[in-house]
Amino acid sequence: MATHSELAVGVDLGGTSLYAAVVDVASGERLGESKAKSHAELGADAVVARVVTAIKEAMVAARVSRQEVRGVGIGVPGPVVAAQGLVLSLTNMGPTWNQYPLAGRLTEALGMRVIIDNDVNVGAVGEHRFGAGRGTQDMVAMFVGTGLGGGVIINGRLHTGFRGSAGEVGHMVLQADGALCGCGRLGHAEAYASRTGIEHAIMAAVAAGEPSLVPDMMKERGRTTLASAMLERAYLAGDRVSVRAVEQAQYYLGLLIASCVNFIDPEAVVVGGGVVERMGEGYLVPVRETAYAHFLNRNDMERVRIVAAELGDASGAVGAAVLAHQRLATAAG
Ligand SMILES: [Zn+2]
Repeated sequence: MATHSELAVGVDLGGTSLYAAVVDVASGERLGESKAKSHAELGADAVVARVVTAIKEAMVAARVSRQEVRGVGIGVPGPVVAAQGLVLSLTNMGPTWNQYPLAGRLTEALGMRVIIDNDVNVGAVGEHRFGAGRGTQDMVAMFVGTGLGGGVIINGRLHTGFRGSAGEVGHMVLQADGALCGCGRLGHAEAYASRTGIEHAIMAAVAAGEPSLVPDMMKERGRTTLASAMLERAYLAGDRVSVRAVEQAQYYLGLLIASCVNFIDPEAVVVGGGVVERMGEGYLVPVRETAYAHFLNRNDMERVRIVAAELGDASGAVGAAVLAHQRLATAAG
């Protein structure tokens, strides 16, 4: 049985669902958990109430009181000022999140200390402590989904940067004046290597008159955007437009990884997110090939591991708990 100082609550707040878990940060074991829909349309205060309920449920499931838990860590899908517990904006969850004092609101409701960070930073911490990057000193994590986010671990700790905004690998420029990125600028990695980038490449080919299964699949599912499962189906069916778009995304992801390796020289690059989880380990084979071909330092290069994430959906909550445990270690309690 863990002593109280080894327990923390981790929360992964997403645009559609949220997940809370009581985590033993010594072993990575989740002692109790709770999942719910976020209902972002209800606004920030109502979502916070749902987070509070999920945290309480997870603690009941784990049979722990708040005195036995060091604190709460929560990862959110957007930029934050971690030191102030402030969410700057969550674009996919509405304007009520602009400048929202999330840590303070949760502390008021729970009577527990709370730290916040963005979802990919906490995911990186989770993969570093208990996932594919465990045991490394220096590691880069990338999560490929609707966007392309990342987190950097240096000397065993999350590298947050001067203004708290380090790790934005998705917005490294891979092609000057290239494709339009979700951030509004041009030629960023996310515009090529994310699911959105793949979708844009497919739609551009379709608009140019090339045949593809994807438009019918989207119509059939009543969707306006491409889900990872659909992409996988089209790819496996040999849909030429989809295969080419995936190959382009893999190529750019490989270039991005090589750039990060040339810059930081980490022991591992851990790649997670919906696209990689869905497409499996095979997705990384051509990515690795491109990456290694662009390493500047060829010495011992296979020792730099480029591997799939291991914790799946749990990386965010587990990492948030680990981060809460670290950041709240110095304060009383
Ligand atoms: Zn961008």
